[in-house]
Amino acid sequence: MMKSIVCQQPGELKFLKSEKPQPKAGEVLLKIRAIGVCGTDIHAYGGNQPFFSYPRVLGHELSGEIVDTGEGVELPVGKPAYVIPYLECGICVACRAGKTNCCTNIEVIGVHRDGGMCEYLCLPASHVVITEGVPFDQLAVVECLAIGAHAVRRGNISKDDTVMVLGAGPIGLGAAQFAKITGAKTFIADVNDGRLSFAKREMNIDAVVDCKGDVKAQLETLTGGEYPTVIIDCTGNPKAMESTFGWLAHGGTLVFVSVVNADISFNDPEFHKRETTLKGSRNATKEDFEHVVACLSNGSAKSTCMVTHKTDFDAFPEVFPEWVKPETGVVKAVIEIN
Ligand SMILES: [Zn+2]
Ligand SMILES: [Zn+2]
Repeated sequence: MMKSIVCQQPGELKFLKSEKPQPKAGEVLLKIRAIGVCGTDIHAYGGNQPFFSYPRVLGHELSGEIVDTGEGVELPVGKPAYVIPYLECGICVACRAGKTNCCTNIEVIGVHRDGGMCEYLCLPASHVVITEGVPFDQLAVVECLAIGAHAVRRGNISKDDTVMVLGAGPIGLGAAQFAKITGAKTFIADVNDGRLSFAKREMNIDAVVDCKGDVKAQLETLTGGEYPTVIIDCTGNPKAMESTFGWLAHGGTLVFVSVVNADISFNDPEFHKRETTLKGSRNATKEDFEHVVACLSNGSAKSTCMVTHKTDFDAFPEVFPEWVKPETGVVKAVIEIN
């Protein structure tokens, strides 16, 4: 038997006992060891995640140990691994172009189907990646970092760029780390003083921008009037997203990681005179995950600095309602299963 934590309906988590699953052909059975708690889980719990159905086992930021394999799977039992939680169809127009991250039929583990807040989970072997030498709690944060790394790749960022990451939550902190790894001058901006001082203290960034003040004036000073060549928006705030059009260097690129339930508008002359490139950035691909793990392994990226809160599996339903409150100061929380 095994235990799962089910989100029965918004605001209600409960333990469920079920039969330990058996891997089918092409699958592995993972003994879950760590689960990152993501904004998606918080919104699902809060009841404000669109297109979400209950009951649902949450959790898509996962690491664990391979304990069994189905027919035709070559992966060795006993190895540590992380999970790529986006299941793509492999045949749609995006998949055929290698953009599995925006598959038209994408299914995300813990969102569209039951996720990893459980002791054992069967997964397609293709989405379980063996990685040795990185602890389970750090492996559980790889997905979150990969979203930031993907945004940096979308921005074609190199050492000659000046990058502003807007929003100092977990995704923004990840994007800023990977922008910095390219050698680009990197700023991080937020309205929240706690988040800004956290970024200043924990991250190797060049400057912070206080969005409560005049952002344009601060950018003018920081860049000698040239403005950032790439802006990565991770705010989830339509007003902030619209403002970025006027904060960008001529010839620059905007990358929107945020998704908001709203229309975004911009002034066309401002867009045109800069010859602005505007890109969306959704999820991440295997390449991004591999880049993140390589950077964690060689020490150029850190996931430990983002993990502010930890709990064990049994205590999670009790502590989670507290963590959802902004005043708790959670940047990233991780559940550990021993
Ligand atoms: Zn996530
Ligand atoms: Zn597809």
